[in-house]
Amino acid sequence: SRAQKLELITQRLRGFPDFPIKGILFRDICPILKDPKCTAAVTDLFEEYVRKKHPIVDLIVGLDARGFLFGPLLAQRLGVGFVLVRKKGKLPGPVKSLSYDLEYGKADAEIQEDAIAPGQKVLVIDDLLATGGTLCAACELLKVQQAVVLDCLVVVELKDLSGAERLKPHTVFSLVSYD
Ligand code: AMP
Repeated sequence: SRAQKLELITQRLRGFPDFPIKGILFRDICPILKDPKCTAAVTDLFEEYVRKKHPIVDLIVGLDARGFLFGPLLAQRLGVGFVLVRKKGKLPGPVKSLSYDLEYGKADAEIQEDAIAPGQKVLVIDDLLATGGTLCAACELLKVQQAVVLDCLVVVELKDLSGAERLKPHTVFSLVSYD
């Protein structure tokens, strides 16, 4: 059931205090991926939500690096393609890039110019929503590409950082949230 899947996912999430720097409670998704049943549960719950809410999806867009772990699984389930938003300097050919702030540090997000056709409907996926800086940057890049962002999907949402507020008018669906 849905409740059992959520319980398993919650069970498999680990918290590491003061990683990678003091004051950050790092939510580690590695135990989810180590358990195939739990990995399938994540994909099941994302698939169930998307099928109910978004009848037409053209592409899944995954964020570097842990969005790459969950995105292709969901894309396969839905029978759609997967597109990468990467950190600076990793993608070949013409790219669009955007600089943004993180909960810890700074980064640049890049997408290949020909990755998405204007008007294509996309879902953006990452492992975790903290301040929302990363997903905001991705949505901004996708706007430049004239993509339609249907929704953002994350496994974990850290509510107290108000990432969902920052993401507006975009919406976010999370499986597990912490205050
Ligand atoms: P943000 O841009 O602040 O929403 O940060 C989201 C990105 O940073 C995601 O790609 C996460 O993988 C990573 N991240 C930020 N905070 C944490 C945390 N407390 N635990 C694990 N990953 C985090």
